[in-house]
Order: sequence, then structure tokens, then C-alpha cells
Amino acid sequence: MIGIYGGTFDPVHYGHLRPAIDVYTELGLSEVRLIPAGVPAHRDLPVASPEQRFQMLLMAIDKVAGLSIDDREIQRDGPSYMIDTIRSLQAEFANEKFCLIVGMDAFIGFESWREWKSIVELVNIVITYRPNFDINSIAESELKKYIHGAQTKNKDEFLASPAGHCYFCPVTQLDISATKIRALVKKENKLNFLLPDVVIAYLQQNQIYQ
Ligand code: ATP
Repeated sequence: MIGIYGGTFDPVHYGHLRPAIDVYTELGLSEVRLIPAGVPAHRDLPVASPEQRFQMLLMAIDKVAGLSIDDREIQRDGPSYMIDTIRSLQAEFANEKFCLIVGMDAFIGFESWREWKSIVELVNIVITYRPNFDINSIAESELKKYIHGAQTKNKDEFLASPAGHCYFCPVTQLDISATKIRALVKKENKLNFLLPDVVIAYLQQNQIYQ
């Protein structure tokens, strides 16, 4: 099963990379594909260009087993809808199963994603969460009904099914966000240990976020 990990990655940081590795390992996925959005559908335009965000991802995952990058969203015109990405991946890898990896913060707003019900019919969902997260804090909604029907704690069952299941995966908690990193660059503060050194050097060389 291939993991799909979308985001703006403006820039990529350890709060993306460590959870990606955690999910890869916990579920024994064949790979996790990091897919930078070209034009994000649900938020403001990124600051760095698609090419810069892709380049930073390339450098960040260089030689890291299990992680790969996919440029289909930045090659596509128009807003980057996950449903289009999933259909495109399924057309390309007809014999593969997929799971979409989403942080709990992003999953809370999942009902606003284009064709979200089609997404959960086409792939499984991995929700990364904080260990003390209480599922009862999600308001009664179509999304909650989906969780009740789809949730499994059985990894084998999850991995055997092509779609229709969701799995809550605990990941390393790193309080890092791209927003915080962009703010630190503006204040000329140090970025060490928040993101890979090669990415820090790239930001400096190209004067991004200054
Ligand atoms: P920004 O601060 O610009 O909003 P971000 O750091 O939240 O960006 P995104 O590219 O928007 O990063 O996030 C992509 C995915 O990574 C989302 O599913 C999000 O939940 C997850 N994610 C981002 N930061 C973390 C983190 N520190 N720990 C776990 N998951 C994270």
C-alpha cells in the first residue's frame, strides 16, 4: 500500500518528515509519496514557488528509504484537488492500494474537501494524531459517521482493503509549522533543528521568506 501525503511544504520541515516515517514504519507501507500542492485548494497561495517547494522536498528526502516525491499537482493547471490526484495515481498504478495520510488538524476540515465522500470510497485514510486526542471532541457530523463506520484498529484488515477504512496512527509530536519557520526567517532567527540543514542553506541562498 502506498501512502499519499499532501501539503504545501512551504517549506518542508521535520514536523512533516518524522510523522511520514512513523506512518511508513507503523503500517509497513511500500512508500510514502509527498505531493506538494501547486495551487492549494483550501488556503492562501504559498510564499515559495512550486519549483522551490519541490526542490526543498527533493533535498530533504535525498536517500531516505521509504519517502518519495511526486510532482503531479504542480504540473497540473488549476487548484490542486486531492480527488484529482487520487484518480490520477489510481490510473497510473492500477494494481496498488492507497492510503491518504492526513494530520488530525487537516482532517477536522475534511468535509470541505472537494468530493470528500468519493475520496473515502477510493482510498483508505490514515489520521495522524496526538496521543491524548479524544475522538469525542469531533462534532456530530457526516465525518464522524464516516469515522464510526470506517475505523479499524486492526492493521492487517486496514492493509488488506483497498478503501473504506480509516486508521488512527500515533506519530512523533513536533510542534513545528511552516508558518513558524517563515516568521523566524523574517526575524532573522536561527532555524536549526526545525528542518534539514540543506533546506536551511537553500532558503538562505535563494533569500526565500525574507
Ligand atoms: P503552514 O504552517 O504553512 O500552514 P504546515 O507546517 O501546517 O504549513 P502543511 O504543508 O500545510 O504544513 O501540512 C501538510 C500536512 O502535514 C498536513 O496533513 C498537516 O496536518 C501535517 N503537518 C504539518 N505540520 C505537522 C506537525 N508538526 N506534526 C504533524 N503533522 C504535521
